[in-house]
Amino acid sequence: MAGQRSMTPLLLGDTTLRDGEQMPGAMLDPADKLAVARALAEAGVDLIEAGFPAVSRTEAAAVEMIAREAADFSGPGGVGDSGGPVVAALCRALQKDIDAADQALADAPAKRRAANIFLSASPLHRRYKLKKSKADVLVMAARAVAYARSRFELVNFSAEDASRTEPEYLARLYEAAITAGATSIGFPDTLGVLTPDEVKHRLAFLRAHVRGIESVLLGAHFHDDLGLATANTLAAVQAGVDMVHCTVGGIGERAGNAALEETAAAVVLRPDIYGRRVNLDATRLAPLCRLVAGLTGVPIPPNKAVCGANAFATGAGIHQDGLLKHPDTYLPYPPEIVGADPARIVLTKHSGRAALRMRLSRMGVEADEARLAAIGEALKNATKAEWADEEGLMARVVGKVSGPS
Ligand code: MN
Repeated sequence: MAGQRSMTPLLLGDTTLRDGEQMPGAMLDPADKLAVARALAEAGVDLIEAGFPAVSRTEAAAVEMIAREAADFSGPGGVGDSGGPVVAALCRALQKDIDAADQALADAPAKRRAANIFLSASPLHRRYKLKKSKADVLVMAARAVAYARSRFELVNFSAEDASRTEPEYLARLYEAAITAGATSIGFPDTLGVLTPDEVKHRLAFLRAHVRGIESVLLGAHFHDDLGLATANTLAAVQAGVDMVHCTVGGIGERAGNAALEETAAAVVLRPDIYGRRVNLDATRLAPLCRLVAGLTGVPIPPNKAVCGANAFATGAGIHQDGLLKHPDTYLPYPPEIVGADPARIVLTKHSGRAALRMRLSRMGVEADEARLAAIGEALKNATKAEWADEEGLMARVVGKVSGPS
């Protein structure tokens, strides 16, 4: 595309291995995590949040395995002059967590490792979780960031529950982190409460009120509690963030996170709206979703955008007829752009002659117009239970409705 090179880059951060794995039932062993990290790197993700090493020995071991291979990750992604995807580890604003991250990422090249510090910012979290004052939290943030910078070139500071934090105070907290040496700041909508308009307003406020914000990267992270995670992420892109955090398939805490495949597909397919260039190879998206679903055991819903089994399937006669005349009539975009299987015409009770003729030819059955109409009529009136065994239904109906004599 002509304008591609002149577009501002958008960095894609992936937290499937950390926030994604926090989803109940989505368990990954260290070897699985390494396989996902490799696939993310090959796809061109810029930053991979590999885990939270202070949590357990197994968690630290998984981050270590990924860090050990990080130098060999050959994907096109990266942050600044990192020359490949950055591997990040999550830490609370505690020395022992930062030490655990430092140790787990010891084998990763200096420009390819990052500490991601999170600290509660909102009134509810300060009062009930931390039992700390606003001033205490500012000090904790500055100390943790400064300590992390003595061990890491790349340090992100993320204000937990930022979306429910007083905007003025949030600005002071980010300033404290930047002054202490944070190289990026993160705005997480931890509870998934924002709407796209609010996202734009909140991020514009930070751009205008955080001193030094222009010298660091700004990232955003959304949850899907209102079904708005992808919409909010794209609003953040329009508000000019440098990086977005997603998970493959949108897996994650509660209702999940913004889906990498949806966010990336929208940015790639609508340069006219978003005007941003990504390092990611979009044809890797559907295969990534299948890999993560297979390893986590969290199935992909059939109607899931980009990677669902029905994302490019149609069962309705009018759509099927149109598709056969020209694919663009009823396809939003060619499935191969996101690495999905070709469009499928599925025989259902809503289908018309075109789909029926295709289905019958697969069975080696020839039918004139009269027989086609009779078979079609029998299928339209079949019950849900009969359709559940489509092959059996087809065999019965074709047998019953006699052929040309
Ligand atoms: Mn989260």
